[in-house]
Amino acid sequence: MRALVVRGRGATPAVEEVRLPAPGPGELRVRIRAAGICHSDLAMVDGTLAPAYPLVLGHEATGVVAEAGPGTTLAAGTPVVLNWAPACRDCWHCRHGEPWLCAANPNPSTPRGETAAGKPLQVTLGLGALAEEVVVPQHAAVPVPAGLPPEQAAVLGCAVLTGVGAVRNTARVAPGESVAVIGLGGVGLAVLTAARRAGAAPILAVDVVEAKRDLALAAGATDFLRSDDRLGKEIRARTDGRGVDHAFECVGRSVTIRAAWRATRRGGAVTVVGMGGKDDMLSLSALDIFHSARTLRSSVYGSTDPDREVPELAAALAAGDLDLGPLVSGTVPLTEAPAALERLARGEGARWVVTFPD
Ligand SMILES: [Zn+2]
Ligand SMILES: [Zn+2]
Repeated sequence: MRALVVRGRGATPAVEEVRLPAPGPGELRVRIRAAGICHSDLAMVDGTLAPAYPLVLGHEATGVVAEAGPGTTLAAGTPVVLNWAPACRDCWHCRHGEPWLCAANPNPSTPRGETAAGKPLQVTLGLGALAEEVVVPQHAAVPVPAGLPPEQAAVLGCAVLTGVGAVRNTARVAPGESVAVIGLGGVGLAVLTAARRAGAAPILAVDVVEAKRDLALAAGATDFLRSDDRLGKEIRARTDGRGVDHAFECVGRSVTIRAAWRATRRGGAVTVVGMGGKDDMLSLSALDIFHSARTLRSSVYGSTDPDREVPELAAALAAGDLDLGPLVSGTVPLTEAPAALERLARGEGARWVVTFPD
């Protein structure tokens, strides 16, 4: 089958023929219908996450079970959304209601299958979903209703779970609270959508790219602000001089975490949703930490249990209560995935989704 493969750190990803093993006990072969391209895929290419190569990219997708291995309970034909952090249900975190921090979470790269030349192949986060097929443990596939728009169902598995979960589970935004969202990629736009669903107001969307304005307003923002020196002033002007109750940092850089910190009122909360680099240091004064009385925390995979929340979000999508249209900038065939990755790297659009013919 064909997959989007990156051969080494910084190499240009290309579509290659690869071979996957047949599903073993407890495993499924899933035929992919649609797979989103996420910023974390860029982090796999540039080596930020230090994966092994050659590596099949992709960790956000929907598909249909094509073949069920021994001991599985999902029949062929079942539509599923893939979960890149399947919970073991047995470690300390799983037993204490934190399945998103499961000690058995997959590594950035997992050995699975081989290249056409017979070299061992790796897959991203145990999935490798930018491919015609994946072979995954059953608990990495969450069943969903049939008939969902594939390009919207695909983004449930990373951008939407992360963004919605950050608002609902991590920050617990209440009606009437003010929100700022810094960084308007797929996750940032999902945060805006969730903030609107939570009844937040105002919802201030912040990005360096002016072209994100219309996307932000469509996704749920009440205002769009350019990220520049005047940002703190602009935010205070819209919050009676205080700053927002909640700031969400969706970039993963110390400079934007600092901007989120400054945008937040005394006693407010900063939620870091973006994943940054290990050498990018954040500096806050001891006095500032004490005096501001702010909370700074991260949200890993939206502090969510995908087995519970993916079906909920899929049901909302099926019922028309959740519109993920503004998150999806367009669909492309697998052959155009390398170009879509480049557009993402340039900050163009929100989510580009690779779709596969039925
Ligand atoms: Zn992702
Ligand atoms: Zn666990």
